Amino acid sequence: MRQDRAVRRVLALAAALLLTLTVGCARTEAPPAQQSAIAASPAVSAAEQPSEPQPESEPAPEPPADPRPEPQPEPEPPAPEPEPSDPEPPAEDDSWMLLLVNADNPLPEDFTVSLKALRNGQSVDERIYPALQQMFDDARAQGVWPLINESFRTFERQQEIMDKYIARYEAGGSSHDDAVKQARAIVALPGTSEHQLGLALDIIAEKGDNETVWAWLRQNAPRYGFILRYPADKEEITGISYEPWHFRYVGVDDALAITEAGVALEEYLAAIPAAE
Ligand SMILES: [Zn+2]
Repeated sequence: MRQDRAVRRVLALAAALLLTLTVGCARTEAPPAQQSAIAASPAVSAAEQPSEPQPESEPAPEPPADPRPEPQPEPEPPAPEPEPSDPEPPAEDDSWMLLLVNADNPLPEDFTVSLKALRNGQSVDERIYPALQQMFDDARAQGVWPLINESFRTFERQQEIMDKYIARYEAGGSSHDDAVKQARAIVALPGTSEHQLGLALDIIAEKGDNETVWAWLRQNAPRYGFILRYPADKEEITGISYEPWHFRYVGVDDALAITEAGVALEEYLAAIPAAE
């Protein structure tokens, strides 16, 4: 996230500054009398001192360090990997990762998504595909076999599901109005299902039992950017009953933070400034 990048940048800057100061202090300890001779015979070339970083803001000509081959002090720890040197790379727009869709927050009318088709006919937002593939590869390497049972849904598909449930309740003897109420209790209205984002996955076991897969995901999915979206103890906040199979991509930083804090996405978004 932008904030973390900002923190890393500050740390890198602080480290670089510290290094500059340290190098500067060492240099002032060189006996002044030797300076001219040293300047004439650079016994130690810059190329032989690869460990010495070149701070961008190095002050102009300074007395060179004592070139006598005396034991070098412990090498400075390598400076943190410098941030890309262009002054301020354009901030990526990460807002799609945290887009909230629920009964109170329908999908934006102009919402579009570029999909990546999966082998089993499902599809997901193409931006989450690498993380998803890595997560499944790693699960399989550990003997856990997840399978995506449901992922991206169109508005029409969501309507079909709703209609199917309404018909089922009507067939069971409910009036139309009651059937609609019953269906709405378990199916999101078209336009309010997170599945329409392409960021939500219903995951079951391809081999073995579902509980093994879900336990692995609860433990590991956040490291790949996915959260358990509808936890058992958050039903009142999410408005959705516990769904151990439903995982939602939010990005690694936020997935770890949400999981660590034990909050629902709704609570997490309410707690961070909207400007983020
Ligand atoms: Zn789901």
